[in-house]
Amino acid sequence: MTSRIADVLIPLALDTAYSYAVPDGLALQEGDVVQVPLATREVAGVVWGLRNGAGSNFKPVTGRIDAPALSPKMRKFLDWIAWYTLAPKGSALAMGLKLVDGDRPEAIRIGVRLTESVPKRVTPARQRVMDVAKDGLVRLKRELAQEAGVSAGVVDGLIDEGTLETVTLLAEPIAEPPDPDFGQSQLSTDQRKAGDTLVSMLSENPAPVALLEGVTGSGKTEVYFEAVAEAIRQGRQALILMPEIALTAQFLDRFSARFGVKPATWHSGVSGRKRERLYAGIASGEVKVIAGARSALFLPYADLGLIVVDEEHETAYKQDDGVHYHARDMAVVRGRIENAPVILASATPSIESRVNVERGRYRHVHLPERFGGRQLPQIRAVDLRQEQVPRGRWLSPTLLAGMEENLGRGEQVLLFLNRRGYAPLTLCRACAHRYECPNCSAWLVEHRFRRSLVCHHCGHVERTPQACISCGSLDSLVSCGPGVERIAEEVAELFPDKRGIVLSSDFPGGTERLRRELAAIADGEFDIVIGTQLVAKGHNFPLMTLVGVLDADIGLTSGDPRAAERTFQLLQQVTGRAGRGEKPGRALVQTWQPDHPVIAALVSGDAERFYREETRVREMAGLPPFGRLASLIISAEDRDAAETHARAMAKVADPAPGVTVLGPAEAPLALIRGRYRFRLLVKTEREVDLQGYLRAWMARCPKVRGNTRVAIDVDPQSF
Ligand code: ADP
Ligand code: ZN
Ligand code: ZN
Repeated sequence: MTSRIADVLIPLALDTAYSYAVPDGLALQEGDVVQVPLATREVAGVVWGLRNGAGSNFKPVTGRIDAPALSPKMRKFLDWIAWYTLAPKGSALAMGLKLVDGDRPEAIRIGVRLTESVPKRVTPARQRVMDVAKDGLVRLKRELAQEAGVSAGVVDGLIDEGTLETVTLLAEPIAEPPDPDFGQSQLSTDQRKAGDTLVSMLSENPAPVALLEGVTGSGKTEVYFEAVAEAIRQGRQALILMPEIALTAQFLDRFSARFGVKPATWHSGVSGRKRERLYAGIASGEVKVIAGARSALFLPYADLGLIVVDEEHETAYKQDDGVHYHARDMAVVRGRIENAPVILASATPSIESRVNVERGRYRHVHLPERFGGRQLPQIRAVDLRQEQVPRGRWLSPTLLAGMEENLGRGEQVLLFLNRRGYAPLTLCRACAHRYECPNCSAWLVEHRFRRSLVCHHCGHVERTPQACISCGSLDSLVSCGPGVERIAEEVAELFPDKRGIVLSSDFPGGTERLRRELAAIADGEFDIVIGTQLVAKGHNFPLMTLVGVLDADIGLTSGDPRAAERTFQLLQQVTGRAGRGEKPGRALVQTWQPDHPVIAALVSGDAERFYREETRVREMAGLPPFGRLASLIISAEDRDAAETHARAMAKVADPAPGVTVLGPAEAPLALIRGRYRFRLLVKTEREVDLQGYLRAWMARCPKVRGNTRVAIDVDPQSF
């Protein structure tokens, strides 16, 4: 007698599925979630393959878990991610199967009910099940089996034959259905044209990808809502990906103004029972629109009809631990697998997406003007070489005068400095000791509100000492340079009667409280907002008319080849916060190098020229998207161990045409969290199969020993 073998992928860092025997009477399908023994425990996994064979060599599957099965498309997507990123397949699965971790296998409940169809064979046990179920009620599988006094396998058999159908059970609707015709906006001619193009993409086969490029305030959201409406009309699901913090009340309100209800949201703040029910609702197709952070890309959509990636240039889309993936790129892959169109929206598109437009791979949909005849802010560079800024102060006379003017009219000012805390460096005037993190090659940043020195890489915290820990001098510590807290101090002295707020990721109270404060700013409850990049993007503050950039040069000096692009995007985004309401806006950008191409392009508004030049530089250097790149970080608690292993790896790297292996060299941050880091960079021409090269190479590398780790990052975002 032939028996069946199930290859079960377990959501742990394992690269292959493990084989288990399928017990007689257990009807399994590929994609089913099952419980299996692993060493001494029972774990959840997903049937990745089924085959005939002598199962006697394998331990049996313990049973099926009542959780939504993973569709073939979902499994293909996870396989693809693992292939592309070189992450273990099980780690990719862990991202798509968060709920069923073996601890709570009953988290999602599947109900069953009788259909019209009669089974081929009616056994007495089956008859009992049908008798119980003929009242048409939905029951849990377990309940039905119990009531009928049969084993779960009998119920499964009837499901397989279509006599019973499964229904995902939810206590109450998790999300009211959005109405595509609820509150249609009056679109401008440009917006209408753009919207029509996007809507038509939903009827194309194969489904295309479009870059929706529109200046800040042009109404990109209104326009992609048209495509979302179309997906709903077609009865399909739409996913709107956003950087986590962009999921504000403001966005939700705009959504409900358009669709009559709030969208379901998926982000790190959604937890517990709600998370489980959402997951089930997405798997059953009940939830039509999800607005979510990058992890929402890994939900088991029943019928995904559209993906929008808002702010597609955002670095927040890159996940840099565990599976190293870029959510924008993976959204395009998921769209291809699901045959769902993908819209990448941005005011400052990435060079990658622009090049894809030039190559004809993506459509280009353009909104060149702000909505409602509003003007883009006037941007002026403030040359710090010409300004008299007192020691220990950072607001130039020009910026101060600007603030007084706008505040005097009752308008809001945003001061942008991309530096958390009070001061980026603390040193002792007596002995020149600099306060450095014990675990990382980084200075400790002073946080004065918390009275501590904090490492921004590992989270190490120590109380700001009274006396120098090195020489014991009292009152000898000096704070060097400003962070947002220090600017807030200056502002409080200069504008004592204005209401100020500091916003950065240190904001106490977490994301929810931060979202509330963002809403308060939009309502005009603060006069001066001092913030890091957290407030620079995406938000709509109608009363904000002046943006002051305190130090536009931050970021330009890093050795990263993307530094110019990143800085340009960030500065365009932050200056774009000005003048989005009735009143026109302006931006004053403090810099030591007003002639730098990034600053010059920002001031002149000639983004095209800047991008052309940057793209040319990238092309000449053979950097992505003109070549491929992977970074390998070899780390260990012992510096020698890390270096030795990195060298051993480099030694077995085969020369191949179009492939350059650089290093090993100390990684840009040579020590993080007590681990020393060395880096190898693999640069290839575009035609080279980078993944194939890396796999073959990794197979030849010596096994890692002790606490040495190798992390592979395909398409690293900083290098
Ligand atoms: P973007 O995302 O391109 O920066 P938004 O979609 O946030 O722009 O739109 C900017 C502002 O203009 C928002 O307050 C939005 O409500 C408003 N807006 C845009 N298009 C329309 C429209 N057709 N009708 C009414 N308001 C609009
Ligand atoms: Zn000292
Ligand atoms: Zn540290």
